Parts: sequence; structure tokens; C-alpha cells
Amino acid sequence: MSRVIYYKTPSEIEIIRENCHLVCKTLALAASRLKPGAKSSEIDKEAEDFIRSHDAKPGFKGYNGFPATLCVSLNEQVVHGFPKEEPFKDGDIVSIDCGVYKNDFFGDAAYTFAIGEVDPEVIKLMEVTLTSLYLGIAQAKPGNRMGDIGHAVQDYCERQNGYGVVRALVGHGIGRNLHEAPEVPNHGRRGKGILLKKDLVIAIEPMVNLGTRNVRQLSDGWTIVSKDRKPSAHFEHTVVVTADGPDILSDHSYVEEAIKNNDNLTQMSVEKPIFALRNFDHG
Ligand code: MG
Ligand code: MG
Repeated sequence: MSRVIYYKTPSEIEIIRENCHLVCKTLALAASRLKPGAKSSEIDKEAEDFIRSHDAKPGFKGYNGFPATLCVSLNEQVVHGFPKEEPFKDGDIVSIDCGVYKNDFFGDAAYTFAIGEVDPEVIKLMEVTLTSLYLGIAQAKPGNRMGDIGHAVQDYCERQNGYGVVRALVGHGIGRNLHEAPEVPNHGRRGKGILLKKDLVIAIEPMVNLGTRNVRQLSDGWTIVSKDRKPSAHFEHTVVVTADGPDILSDHSYVEEAIKNNDNLTQMSVEKPIFALRNFDHG
């Protein structure tokens, strides 16, 4: 990966926003299909058709040989799982990660879903991980440094909640490439790392484990699992740094609406004020 950071023009940012909205609509479609007995392989096909019907291409399919439109990571799987024929079971959690490519740019977002009756301890892991995403996003403003984002995620998940923040995988710059500089770690030190500047577009994606932060890769060459096989949650937004603070280019509201309308999914409760980023405090 080139170390060069490509800052985006306003028109490029709008293309990425449009792509990220398509990603989130695709995630919402997937959410509407989730239930015990559903097969992720079938949802993946539907997601691919949906993306192509919008004159876009799946962003992940064929990327370094990845075989599918969606990354579907179940329970102890952290990220990069494959869609499977094996049906979902009551009590599963599943991270679905999606990318699209259109008009020479990518979009990227992810969400973790709770199917049926899920252990409250695991729902809390999901809630804390989603909250940490917004705490990280809140740091994406000019004058801050990359370590401020990672520190916010890490402090909330590890120090305040006792979970393990995955170090081996990170968020990333995004644009003409799915993954470009800079790396966006989910851990870090305040005031350290590269300076965040206006027009930087990054995907922030905390991967948080109920137990150990350590992970390993399965022999399929892709799937990352927690080393102790305890559950893991993952949420992702694509964000642009503006003079006024973070502007979230992806939109989970499509997904959250689909969750509300699907009785087979357990709802999280995440505090609302965290979402009010448009009224971001500049101080
Ligand atoms: Mg992603
Ligand atoms: Mg990503």
C-alpha cells in the first residue's frame, strides 16, 4: 500500500458518499433477510444483484481473491468471513461488511447484527463497540492526530469496559483504492500519529472482542477469529474530516430502520447524543 495520502476534492467526496449510501442500503437489504435458518450465501447473491442493479460493482469480490460481495463474520469470527450455505442459528451475532465501487471510487461500511435471542453480555459488547465507533469518529477533526481516534476507541472498550481491541487489523484511507494510506488503528495514544487534515477520507472500524484481543487466521486464508473463540463485534463508517469536524459519509440509519422492521433481530440500545455529530463541539 502506497504511503501517499490522497486528500479528496468536494466532488470526489460526494461520489464516495453516494457509494457509502449504496453500501448501507445493501446492508439494510441483508438485515431484512436475517433470521434463524437464513443462509448467508443466498443473502450474498441478493446483495450482489442489488449493487449491480445500481450500476455499481461489489467492492470486495475479487479483491486479493476474496470470493464474495459480503464479508460475513459469525460469532468468534472478527472479520473477513465468507458467506456460507450453513444457516444462521438463534443466538448468533454476525458482522456484515460491504464495499462498492462506482465512478472510480469505493465506499465501505459494516454492522453487527444479533439474530434471535442473543446473550445480553454479547449485546452489550455490540453496544460498546458501536458507541466506541462514534467516540472515535468524534476525534476526526483537523488539528487532532490519528492516535486521538484510536485512543478514544481503546479507552472506552478496554479501560472502561474490559474488552479486547483487536490490534492486528485496522481501518484505512479509502478513495480510488479500497485500502489506502493512512492506517486507522483502533488503539493509540493521544496527540500521537499523523495530523488529521481537512478532506482526509477514512474508514473507522473498531473490531472488539469479548475476551482476548489476540486473533488468528483460519486455514481458508481469510477468516480472522478471536484466539479464545469468544464473540467479536465490528462496526464501520466512512468519514471525511472537514473544517467543522467529522462528516459521516456512510449512513447506518438505513440499517437501523431494517433492524427495527425485522422481529428476528435483537435491538441494541445506544445512547442518542453520541449520534448528534452534525452539531459537533469544535472545542
Ligand atoms: Mg468494511
Ligand atoms: Mg474497511
